[in-house]
Amino acid sequence: MELPICVLVDPTVLQCHEIEVQEVGPLIRLRMAAIPVTATCPACLQPSVRIHSRYKRTLTDLPWANISALIEVSVRRFFCDNPQWRALVGHSGMT
Ligand SMILES: [Zn+2]
Repeated sequence: MELPICVLVDPTVLQCHEIEVQEVGPLIRLRMAAIPVTATCPACLQPSVRIHSRYKRTLTDLPWANISALIEVSVRRFFCDNPQWRALVGHSGMT
């Protein structure tokens, strides 16, 4: 069986800010943030640096030994400033 080349998070994309271990559960929680300060619009492929908003995504990972694992990632959403596409409904932001 061939293993994936990268099984760990790319440190140029995500940075871990905090690791919290709760004895109740037990639970380990990783708080991470996205590093890139730009995003490419998936519709028009133009880069953007203008932040629309921030939100969290929560991932539940497989348990580490007998400890439940939870990953919270803070993610930015960017505006698309391409004037040809801006007027389209649902094309105001990208992640
Ligand atoms: Zn766009």
